[in-house]
Amino acid sequence: MNAPARKPNFSEIDFNLSPFIVIWEVTQACDLACLHCRASAQPRRNPLELTAEEGYGLLEDIRRFGQPMLVLTGGDPMKRPEIFDLIDRAASLGLRVAMSPSATPLVTREAVEEMKRRGLMRMAISLDGAEDRSHDAFRRVPGSFQRTLEVVRDAQEIGLSLQINTTVTRHNRRELVELGERLKGWPGMALWSVFFLVPTGRGRSEDEITPEEYEDVLVWLYEFSKTAPFDVKTTAAPHFRRVILQQQAREKRQDQAGGKTAPRIGFALNAGSDRAPKGVNDGNGFVFISHTGEVFPSGFLPVSGGNVRQASIVDIYRDSPLFRSLRDADLLKGKCGACEFRKICGGSRARAYAVYGDFLAEEPFCVYEPGGQK
Ligand code: SF4
Repeated sequence: MNAPARKPNFSEIDFNLSPFIVIWEVTQACDLACLHCRASAQPRRNPLELTAEEGYGLLEDIRRFGQPMLVLTGGDPMKRPEIFDLIDRAASLGLRVAMSPSATPLVTREAVEEMKRRGLMRMAISLDGAEDRSHDAFRRVPGSFQRTLEVVRDAQEIGLSLQINTTVTRHNRRELVELGERLKGWPGMALWSVFFLVPTGRGRSEDEITPEEYEDVLVWLYEFSKTAPFDVKTTAAPHFRRVILQQQAREKRQDQAGGKTAPRIGFALNAGSDRAPKGVNDGNGFVFISHTGEVFPSGFLPVSGGNVRQASIVDIYRDSPLFRSLRDADLLKGKCGACEFRKICGGSRARAYAVYGDFLAEEPFCVYEPGGQK
């Protein structure tokens, strides 16, 4: 008998043995063609994608890690006919399962109800602008913003926990404040996951914000998170952890200078119900399985450690030279290698690979100079 999906004690997870989060791209098929799509999604399913039977076996293998968070992603996972069975299997194995469907007509009210009934813990949905114009331009489908709001409303009415994913680019950077304030009023909001563009798939480097803007956005996110009634996390910007520590140290110094002794209420590095308590990074607490079974350190780092058709996901994650090297902060190069924050940050390995072709190279979009501290 499998254990029910309860929250494990994250601080006890050894990332050398088990990831905090497993992402499975169940298909690359999708009816949208978003500007920055990591997967360069296609309208049709790839005949080589993992079969349902292979998928069920994969879920059992993932359970050997313990109870990592499992995210079923795509493409659009709704393009898999057996998606509800996959949710069902994962949930009954004791996995905490989330899914990120594309906001298309496939996500009906009935579909959302069925997801919840089958054991889905959370729905993640993308929202890349505070208004129709910017979001629809990203998604390249008029009406996509309104469709997203409808899906959100269905999830809220059904009582399904909600995660909003937003990719920051130069096109929407100025809308983040407005979007964040809007999300504060949404019932059911559990997590705002803010993605920073990695120039891979359809993501283009000319759409990226500058390193200085990264810093501004990360500092703003830290301030925002103090009053947000939900968790805030970043993807492909692990330097958020460095920014949090620096901001907290700054505040402590200001409090001491002002004679205050009361502890400050606000963002704590290890606070939050589903946030990892230590530095998750590509291949280190994080693993991505492609639609054809390739095991990547993240969806933005297309270097394979092996294929689940030939080897166990557990063995690939724990023992492949690729994953082992990504968990060794002492192998990092350039300023990340010299940085005192490298063990909690380490820079985006995916962006280093996309920019330099070397996943151990320094993070190209961090303004911090090692030794500068706070
Ligand atoms: S230099 Fe590298 S390790 Fe240091 S804070 Fe920047 S990205 Fe992180």
